[in-house]
Amino acid sequence: MQEVKKPKKPLIYYYVIVLAVLLLFNFLFMPWAAERQVKEVGYDTFIEMTEKEEIGQVQINQEDNEVIFTNKDGDQIYKTGMVEDPGMTERLYASGAKFSGQIIEQMSPVLSFLLSWILPIVIFIGIGQYMSRKLMNRASGGPDSMIFGMGKSNAKVYVKSSEGIRFSDVAGEDEAKENLSEIVDYLHNPAKYREIGASMPKGILLVGPPGTGKTMLAKAVAGESNVPFFSMSGSEFVEMFVGMGASKVRDLFKQAKEKAPCIVFIDEIDAIGQKRDGRAGGNDEREQTLNQLLTEMDGFESNNGVIILAATNRPESLDPALTRPGRFDRRVPVELPDLKGREEILKVHAKKVKMDESVDFNKVARMASGASGAELANIINEAALRAVRENRHYVTESDLEESIEVVIAGYQKKNAILTDKEKRVVAYHEIGHALVAAKQSNSAPVQKITIVPRTSGALGYTMQVEEGNHYLMSQEELENKIATLTGGRAAEELVFHSSSTGASNDIEQATKLARSMITRYGMSKDFDMVAMETVTNQYLGGDTSLSCSAETQAEIDRQVVELVKKQHEKAAKILADNREKLDQLADYLYDKETITGEEFMNILNAA
Ligand code: ADP
Repeated sequence: MQEVKKPKKPLIYYYVIVLAVLLLFNFLFMPWAAERQVKEVGYDTFIEMTEKEEIGQVQINQEDNEVIFTNKDGDQIYKTGMVEDPGMTERLYASGAKFSGQIIEQMSPVLSFLLSWILPIVIFIGIGQYMSRKLMNRASGGPDSMIFGMGKSNAKVYVKSSEGIRFSDVAGEDEAKENLSEIVDYLHNPAKYREIGASMPKGILLVGPPGTGKTMLAKAVAGESNVPFFSMSGSEFVEMFVGMGASKVRDLFKQAKEKAPCIVFIDEIDAIGQKRDGRAGGNDEREQTLNQLLTEMDGFESNNGVIILAATNRPESLDPALTRPGRFDRRVPVELPDLKGREEILKVHAKKVKMDESVDFNKVARMASGASGAELANIINEAALRAVRENRHYVTESDLEESIEVVIAGYQKKNAILTDKEKRVVAYHEIGHALVAAKQSNSAPVQKITIVPRTSGALGYTMQVEEGNHYLMSQEELENKIATLTGGRAAEELVFHSSSTGASNDIEQATKLARSMITRYGMSKDFDMVAMETVTNQYLGGDTSLSCSAETQAEIDRQVVELVKKQHEKAAKILADNREKLDQLADYLYDKETITGEEFMNILNAA
């Protein structure tokens, strides 16, 4: 869509006017002043003029070593350097010249007074008057309530255009699109709704993790319904000055009402919509802005054609007054895409680049499990960049695979040299993971194993691929996952009888998983279905907070250790039972550095 910029009168505009006045003044004054300019002459001219009795006034500046004098009419000033001339004073006196103390300053005392005193005062009074008029207006809530545009909403306005984003550009997210298409229908045909007496929700809150297409969906609603679209981010409301945010909200709604039917989109609304906790020293500006937003949302009829869309990834932090019916009364979840969604998103973005026709998007989508729409768009772009780097004219599947790895693990580290021993340890570590995963029937098959160091610090990794969508995980699957995570360390212990630092990430993940099983999924026999932990930040990392007694905490810790230990032992047993395959596979990986899941399975299944 095209952004329409409103003409603004910035501060510089007023300064230009002041400058113009000054210039005009100077142009009128300069010609007259030029006539009276001081003319530098030789000492001989001075003597000559003295003799001819042509000198009117004379001023002798001992410090500056100069003589300033005028002609008889006094309309021309001359200047000359002083020369050792004992009889000068007498001769001047005899010629009838008048001795004066201030020839140049006498030139225009009124003018110099005007310039140095009156003009600046006039300018300052003018600016002061202007500012106070604006401030008075603002205090009375008048329409002109902004100082130099500071209280203006600055919302980006987009109007309908043929290149606008459509629902078809947003892949997946079918539920959200279905929900929002009702809004589009309403904006096309409000009478149909008014007839029955149905009123549209005033506000719709799009919630979901970052990069899932919330902004895109809002734009698509505007694109589909062909109405103006005002877009503003929550943080743009909050200014240094208290009251500015509120003024911006007022301005935004005023503009929106003028342009109705239209869509107002507030991105990251949690920046202004956070719960007011009533603590002393809270953020006054934010609370005032929020209050103004609440008032504005109450203040307009639900059927006047202004629809407010807002996006956030922290819905739990929003003020309850904001999410109550009558304000943001509808909540549309925009979740991470599932397998089908990922495949569609990849296809949408692949249209923008030249792709090899044989690319299997389903496979790529399976590899990129858990990726958001933005990440998938990034994967396609990274792949295209890689194709350019390699002087190819199209993107291949291996580009996509590599770019997924780049997004997950960073770029290949070019000059990291592992010692022979280290490389062997890493090979055993990775095969340990893969072998434990493969031997447990419920674990996902391995896609690729590599021991090429990455910039993220990973010395190698095993890429697992989910076959389909997983909505539920059984206790057994979770336990197997923990066993797989411990498989790397178990292999090192089995083969080298020692531990290395390479397992820190595995340990972290295994602990997290085991902890959730016990505190949140009710998978511990002692705690039954009691929640010991609650998730506080669902869409941003999923932080948790404990809610139990100190004794229970100690018990949780004990059980977590027990659970991980048991799985570690299980992994160690699987590896010991398959020691021969472990050696064979590790040797193979050591030689090849990167092996595919297929090669792995072939060796594993070979007699
Ligand atoms: P959010 O507002 O949820 O953080 P955006 O709407 O800004 O995310 O999405 C960022 C980018 O990710 C978009 O510009 C688009 O390229 C890509 N993207 C995200 N979701 C989708 C989707 N469902 N279909 C196509 N592209 C998507």
